[in-house]
Amino acid sequence: MKHLSPHSKEWFAAFAKLDPQQAAATRKFIKDSRTENVCSMCGDHPASDYEVADKWFDADTPVTYRLCEDCLSTLATNEGERLVPLSSHAQ
Ligand SMILES: [Zn+2]
Repeated sequence: MKHLSPHSKEWFAAFAKLDPQQAAATRKFIKDSRTENVCSMCGDHPASDYEVADKWFDADTPVTYRLCEDCLSTLATNEGERLVPLSSHAQ
């Protein structure tokens, strides 16, 4: 199983298929803040990398996001997502 590093070229290609609108927004956040180290959802920082349990870009590739604390708790609370810090995986 491989993890796409959030905001990498490969990640954007996969994310654009899953959620074109959000992918476009994320591109804009990165462009505006001139760093990739921002939240995938809102462009805030600091942000850390998470894997979404049970969500997949494709059969071998779990969905990953870079999230600030606010979006982490919003996704977990409102969407019921289970988010696993990427650093806890052996990469
Ligand atoms: Zn955020």
